[in-house]
Amino acid sequence: MVGSRALSLDTRYSMGYNFVIIITLYLLQGIDFYVRGLIFLIGHDIKSILTSHGVRPTQQRAEVYHYLLTHSIHPSADTIYKALSSKYPVFSRTTIYNSLNVLVEAGLVRIINIRAGEQHFDANTENHGHFLCLKCDKIYDFDIKEDLLSRLCPTGYQPKVGDIYFTGICINCNENEK
Ligand SMILES: [Zn+2]
Ligand SMILES: [Zn+2]
Repeated sequence: MVGSRALSLDTRYSMGYNFVIIITLYLLQGIDFYVRGLIFLIGHDIKSILTSHGVRPTQQRAEVYHYLLTHSIHPSADTIYKALSSKYPVFSRTTIYNSLNVLVEAGLVRIINIRAGEQHFDANTENHGHFLCLKCDKIYDFDIKEDLLSRLCPTGYQPKVGDIYFTGICINCNENEK
């Protein structure tokens, strides 16, 4: 008991320190550096991140979280399943869905409902917007300034979690058309 308590305090300390670095990168450099910061964290034992969020670190959950941290493409559950099942044939579709549910409930992963009928997943849980390109089908991130969220909400309401969805043509497809 004492051992596990000491470990979790230690983990919390090192996680806190790492997050300070990442948030600084985010404030200085924007979302790309935030994501790169998250990837840097992977070197710092993904299972301890799960434990510190109250998630029992099974191999499946760790692999799903690792996949999301290293693939900021907002994959669907099916994409994650296809990617992981080739590496781990014992993983079932149900296991992947269950792992995603646990990670979402723990606040480590967020659901992106930008496309009707299919959920996408994102390990970046900070407020940011999403843009779905109707040509290349990719989902892009963009920054949302805190004051923009407050301005969009009715007076007196305080937004905590913010996401904005846009669909259209991305810059790459736009330039290819010229
Ligand atoms: Zn595009
Ligand atoms: Zn995103």
